[in-house]
Amino acid sequence: MSRQSEAAQASPTYIYIAGRGHSGSTLLTLLLARHPRIAAIGELSLLSLQIARDESTRWVGLCSCGERPMDCPVWGRILKEVENDENLDIKRKPFSWRVSDVGMEEEYRNSAPLRVPFVWLRHCLWRLVRYLQYLSPLGLGKLASIYKPQSAWAKNRSRVVSRLAAINDVDAIVDASKDSLDMLDVYYHSTVPVKIIFLTRDSRGNVWSMLKRLKAGMSRDDNVAPAAREWVKVNGRIWQLVQQVPNADCMHLRYEDLCRNPRDVMNRLFEFAGLDAFDVVSARDESDREAHTIGGNKIRFSSEPLNIREDTAWSQNLTDQELRTIRAIAGPLSDELGYER
Ligand SMILES: [Zn+2]
Repeated sequence: MSRQSEAAQASPTYIYIAGRGHSGSTLLTLLLARHPRIAAIGELSLLSLQIARDESTRWVGLCSCGERPMDCPVWGRILKEVENDENLDIKRKPFSWRVSDVGMEEEYRNSAPLRVPFVWLRHCLWRLVRYLQYLSPLGLGKLASIYKPQSAWAKNRSRVVSRLAAINDVDAIVDASKDSLDMLDVYYHSTVPVKIIFLTRDSRGNVWSMLKRLKAGMSRDDNVAPAAREWVKVNGRIWQLVQQVPNADCMHLRYEDLCRNPRDVMNRLFEFAGLDAFDVVSARDESDREAHTIGGNKIRFSSEPLNIREDTAWSQNLTDQELRTIRAIAGPLSDELGYER
């Protein structure tokens, strides 16, 4: 290993993907990870929860290699180093070493207030305090800034990212955790340089991808407006919070632009992350490169060519009435994000 690459790995670039679900983050992650100096790690904010998920929860938390995190050759190795250094038993107490605000409330979702009331309340408090800190209305942010649990989370996270970069021999790590507050926790408190990609998808495409997933018996009419409002809420919040990040560290990317011009768009992203240019379109994934991703969609690295074609099924499937509803709700933010009408 050259001295230069050792230095890079001591402080790798932390690429954070923010955005609403079903906006193309899996495609973006796969394209980023084609670069020989980048490794994808899944959704790091879910690490403790994935360790905690066992036979008693909805599903068992696994690394993409098929092992439980503590038994995975990569994650297990890093977590055991932490256990030794900090004198912890992470397997027994997964949340004793946190990397984010995500806890068991995420597992129980709507029934969390009943199932884990204290955990749920603390989670709500954590989010409220950080909104105040990051948005600072009426100076309340200053008052709330005495309490910053996120600074320990981000330091732990930087440690994981640095170790993963060294183990994978890469200069940058991609985390697709996507959350607005988590994004700023990482940006402000990490000990490694952070680059944020705010990924958006056309509201119509995103709403259609939600409608496609409706369970049998659920009314499509009842779900168009809520899906559009959710698109505005999630993207609007990230857009609002990301304004405080300097342009040098943040890039807005439209899924549609990525699909239409993948080679150039990816090279702009690589340059943004301080990496050499790389032709992602003619590259093939190395089939022997085993991925160890945690949480989120299972990232599969295969020798099959990746489908980068833009998914425009919404234009054939949404009715005029549905398009009008979406426009009425999501129009102003769509225009602000540069979407064509
Ligand atoms: Zn693994």
